[in-house]
Amino acid sequence: MTQDTLDVFEDAPVLDFEPTRDAALRQLEGFVQKAGSAYARQRNFDFGPGKHGKVSQLSPYIRHRLLLEEEVVAAVLNQHDLHAAEKYIQEVFWRGYFKGWLEHRPQVWQYYKQDIVTLFDQIDKNAGLATAYDEAISGRTGIACFDAWANELIETGYLHNHARMWFASIWIFTLKLPWQLGADFFYRHLLDGDPASNTCSWRWVGGLHTLGKTYLARASNIEKFTAGRFNPVGELASEAPALEDSRPFTITPLRFAPSDLIGRQVGLLITEEDCHPESLDLPTPKAALALSGATERSVRPLGQTVTAFALAAVSDAAQRAEQVFNVAVDTTPDPDWAEQIKDWAGQHDLEAAVTSRLTLGPVQKRLRQACQQAGIELIEITRPYDQAVWPHAKKGFFGLKKKIPSVLQTLDMI
Ligand SMILES: Cc1cc2nc3c(=O)[nH]c(=O)nc-3n(C[C@H](O)[C@H](O)[C@H](O)COP(=O)(O)OP(=O)(O)OC[C@H]3O[C@@H](n4cnc5c(N)ncnc54)[C@H](O)[C@@H]3O)c2cc1C
Repeated sequence: MTQDTLDVFEDAPVLDFEPTRDAALRQLEGFVQKAGSAYARQRNFDFGPGKHGKVSQLSPYIRHRLLLEEEVVAAVLNQHDLHAAEKYIQEVFWRGYFKGWLEHRPQVWQYYKQDIVTLFDQIDKNAGLATAYDEAISGRTGIACFDAWANELIETGYLHNHARMWFASIWIFTLKLPWQLGADFFYRHLLDGDPASNTCSWRWVGGLHTLGKTYLARASNIEKFTAGRFNPVGELASEAPALEDSRPFTITPLRFAPSDLIGRQVGLLITEEDCHPESLDLPTPKAALALSGATERSVRPLGQTVTAFALAAVSDAAQRAEQVFNVAVDTTPDPDWAEQIKDWAGQHDLEAAVTSRLTLGPVQKRLRQACQQAGIELIEITRPYDQAVWPHAKKGFFGLKKKIPSVLQTLDMI
């Protein structure tokens, strides 16, 4: 056993994904001193459920913007210099990279969604595929590590990054299941389930992101980085031929139109996409509306923890908005967003509704449609961090990685 494997047992925190900003800040505070060389050395070890203390476990919070990427980076730079915390900061930037990459390529997201519908249709008609799929998602493949990760995902809503990579690789290359079904399984059960990070990561494993470059899970690597918990020798595919997808996609330029809100009677819409509305650059809203729900991530049901986490995160954001803006926040759950927005806008005599910029995914689709049906203008505010990061996400991660210092300078962070 290495020192890395030994000292996990001393300081691993028990998983606690309480869906509040306070909990996110506590988690950040508890982790930040480990974000330097300790993270770079130990981040690849997956010691199992409840023992993920070598990584920050902040993704459910960052994903819903209970905590912002720039806050995480600022806290880390407060204790480490950029060089010492380089690896951790780069990881934080992967999220913005994938977000920007997908925003430039909306067709990739459309294809994924179409594929999911087609594939579940095939599952309904093909008993062999249905059985293989059911065994995979219920942890009954007989590959002990894979089965354990499937169960951990369902039970906790979280998986270590290395486990996600191994799992996706085994799904695609050993079990030979369609990558989109694996991505859907993750998306429905991860508290941090995110259209960009999830879809792009699965594509990356399968060789569709960096064209031709795949990720092959190897027994020896799993044994080493699970500290000997698993050793699937002889059970895994020995090669990982790249998947192919010849459907075309164009690169859509991103627009960051400034929104002139001064003097306008606006209402704030809070969704699970951004649970820190108090840091958005907007005038004090006349009213606010918290839209409930983890929205339709899939044609299949979401994990209960995912729904509960998203609901509570929105409610936490609503409480803060009420205090900071000193406005009434309507938090009544209502499945009909269009009707709800129409009533709310009429009641408060609003000229427009504002929200954080909506990126590809079910909330974007549903909220834009609802505002259109309600006959109210929707103004989306892009955060400066996103404006600084996304333009560098047109090609590979390296393009963004080398710009990290200048992005941080633009944001006045170094
Ligand atoms: C197949 C697969 C699917 C994934 N699906 C998702 C997903 O749906 N949602 C999601 O947020 N992440 C996803 N990831 C990325 C990554 O695994 C998680 O963000 C990370 O494991 C979260 O744990 P952490 O906060 O402890 O990470 P840390 O190692 O502590 O990293 C700090 C932060 O950096 C960001 N980050 C780290 N690695 C990545 C990465 N590879 N891509 C994007 N952001 C990253 C996260 O915001 C994370 O909170 C996926 C990775 C793979 C391989």
